[in-house]
Amino acid sequence: MLMTIAPDNLKNLLDKLARDRLLVAPSMEDGVTRLKPVHSAAEIAFDYSNTATSIKDFLFPQSEDLLRFVTDGTLSIEEIKPERAQVAFGLRPCDLASVALMDKVLLGGEFSDAHYQTRRNNTLLIGLACENPADTCFCTTYGYNPGWAGAADVMLYKDGDKYLAEALTDKGRELVGGPGEGLFKPADEAAGEAVKKAYAEKDVPFGKEVDVQGIDKILDGFFYDQYWDDISKKCIGCGTCTYVCPTCHCFLLTDEARGGQGLRFRCWDSCMFANYTKMASGANPRPTKKERVRQRFMHKLNYYPNRYGGSYLCTGCGRCVAMCPVGLHIAGVIKDVKGVKAHA
Ligand code: SF4
Ligand code: SF4
Repeated sequence: MLMTIAPDNLKNLLDKLARDRLLVAPSMEDGVTRLKPVHSAAEIAFDYSNTATSIKDFLFPQSEDLLRFVTDGTLSIEEIKPERAQVAFGLRPCDLASVALMDKVLLGGEFSDAHYQTRRNNTLLIGLACENPADTCFCTTYGYNPGWAGAADVMLYKDGDKYLAEALTDKGRELVGGPGEGLFKPADEAAGEAVKKAYAEKDVPFGKEVDVQGIDKILDGFFYDQYWDDISKKCIGCGTCTYVCPTCHCFLLTDEARGGQGLRFRCWDSCMFANYTKMASGANPRPTKKERVRQRFMHKLNYYPNRYGGSYLCTGCGRCVAMCPVGLHIAGVIKDVKGVKAHA
């Protein structure tokens, strides 16, 4: 059922939610809009194209404690669970898509990641359709669009002086019937569907330039191409692309112990770092930038779709396009590889 909510009521709802859970929302600081914890709706930026940081920071955080252990004669272990409930507001369709892609990796196989699962269970995702896609956005390349609701529990679409709203999951319906009671009104269904259609068909100019069709198959025969040597020369190995990417999920597990007790934690790592694949013996299967750059793009455009049935490990959020200091990004690689093959 489609509903509407007035901006003041939406702010009231967010204020109410912030009282008993962590509220994460777009907020501007030093001229940059990031997805970050806020205390109230007054801190939220409602007018932005996309956030510099993504929902990954709150479902698969940069660093997280997993367990404590004591080794005073006998070993005892205490798991640390991420119990706190959180609500993430203002997620763009590309980030909603990234959650679906991460779910496949961390929840979809024989083993699921307990910490990620707990955070997913404890997190309410409120999406916000894109009014003005940035010139680095290319979600449509992968079949998403500015109104795509993906993994959202509730999806919002700015519609003139109000928001169109749709609850898509039980968690979303609980929000509308619980803390949101009395704040939403029924919408005219036909008019609401027209608003959704207009967002789905919104122009994404950069998306038209980047055609990913068939690249997974092309890359099957591209592993040894000179191209990887050529483009990797300009990479400075900073890892920015992997840290800002909502779908990159390499991590490092570390135990730190002192005085008979210790902590196991994990933190993000990056396939763009030389030491990422370095073994205790000193051997390193990806010794140069060529192997590391190739790995990142092959993973997103060939290994992932081969393993998980078609989807690419990229949502066209454009963060790497905007933030790689040397302009080496996935949209350019897609164009190059397809161009190279077209002229081969
Ligand atoms: S590879 Fe780049 S465009 Fe694709 S999801 Fe990651 S940061 Fe966004
Ligand atoms: S591709 Fe760009 S952002 Fe990524 S590690 Fe290389 S220089 Fe840094």
